[in-house]
Amino acid sequence: MYIIGKEEIEAVKKVIESGQLFRYRGGENGESDKLEREWSKKMGCEYTIAMTSGTAALICGLAGMGVGPGDEVIVPAYTFMATASACLAVGAVPVLAEIDETLTIDPDDIVRKITPRTKAIIPVHMCGFPCDMDAIMHIAKKNKLYVLEDACQAVGGFYKGRCLGSIGDTGAFSFNQFKILSCGEGGAMVTNDRIVYEKALMQHDSGAVFRSYVSNMTHPFFSGWNFRTNEIPSAIMRVQLRRLDGILEALRKEKETLLSELEGLDEFVFNPVNDARGECATTLAMLFHDRSEARSFLKYLQEHGVEASTPIDSDLHVYRNWKPVMEKRGAHHPARDAFNVPGVQINYSPDMCKRTLSILERTVYLSMRVDRPVNELTAVADIIKGRFCHKDMIVK
Ligand SMILES: *Cc1c(COP(=O)(O)O)cnc(C)c1O
Repeated sequence: MYIIGKEEIEAVKKVIESGQLFRYRGGENGESDKLEREWSKKMGCEYTIAMTSGTAALICGLAGMGVGPGDEVIVPAYTFMATASACLAVGAVPVLAEIDETLTIDPDDIVRKITPRTKAIIPVHMCGFPCDMDAIMHIAKKNKLYVLEDACQAVGGFYKGRCLGSIGDTGAFSFNQFKILSCGEGGAMVTNDRIVYEKALMQHDSGAVFRSYVSNMTHPFFSGWNFRTNEIPSAIMRVQLRRLDGILEALRKEKETLLSELEGLDEFVFNPVNDARGECATTLAMLFHDRSEARSFLKYLQEHGVEASTPIDSDLHVYRNWKPVMEKRGAHHPARDAFNVPGVQINYSPDMCKRTLSILERTVYLSMRVDRPVNELTAVADIIKGRFCHKDMIVK
């Protein structure tokens, strides 16, 4: 999805020539600090911590909010497994909630899954589709829960004018190979809360012992891990960030064209989107009445050389394939395993989120591209129309 080229090579070259790869050598003028300031500005947040992965950002977000052993965190049944793994990493257990037709967490099911142990909700903006943040923030406020937005697939998207990732207490982004922006591996966490920020800093940086120039830490130091970034990925990401608006514009244009080309076909509906203007438009999702219709449509597309997929086949994005969760192996050591915390009672089964499975198997995805000539795109539209148009209709 991402675009990378000469500008990134130049940026990396400069870092190597400077001989300073460690982020704290550069201090406030280093690439990593600059990236964090630029990211905060772009996302409309007070604080950003760049780090080694989206998973690290989720873990530090949870740690920053004080989530730990004995806590339950509500996560959607459709997300990359890392969302659930991050809960286990801090000693909490993931509680699965259904998605709705928007392919994001169903607010009504969040309410059903709240217990006295619930501490946080992780709405996931899957494929850049915004979650119903108004409903989720309302539920969180009413029940005094934290919200960590997993915006790993939604860099640059927004919901009612606010950047995805900036609406909850914290937000997490990923820069791995499959994301809208990438430096190979990487991630970032954002927050507006000073204490959450300080705790996340310590968690991500061996207790933040290295960041000598961050003065006025008010939270007492505790032992953390090391998810620090370095100057090379940060230099790449600063260039990537400048490409973001152009990438999203190209994706949104593709999607708009396809939506208007396919208007009026009634064999399927486009999955509803919570804020269609704000979504990242990486994916066009089509919802069928039953799974066999979706399957045969997918087969038809593939036979005609159109790249398409169904989310039910997306392996570790479907909860029933999360083996360590399903089989309750939460850590390397039994005494560190969230599932062994006294009083924690949770069970999983492959069919526990039936509605999620039904939506995933009835949905077909088309991936939008940034570099596709218009005639290729209209050819895709014609292939789809060719499948559904009646004999007496004229296909352009
Ligand atoms: C990619 C992804 C992650 C994890 O990001 P990494 O950088 O690979 O650790 C978490 N959640 C979602 C929804 C993702 O797509």
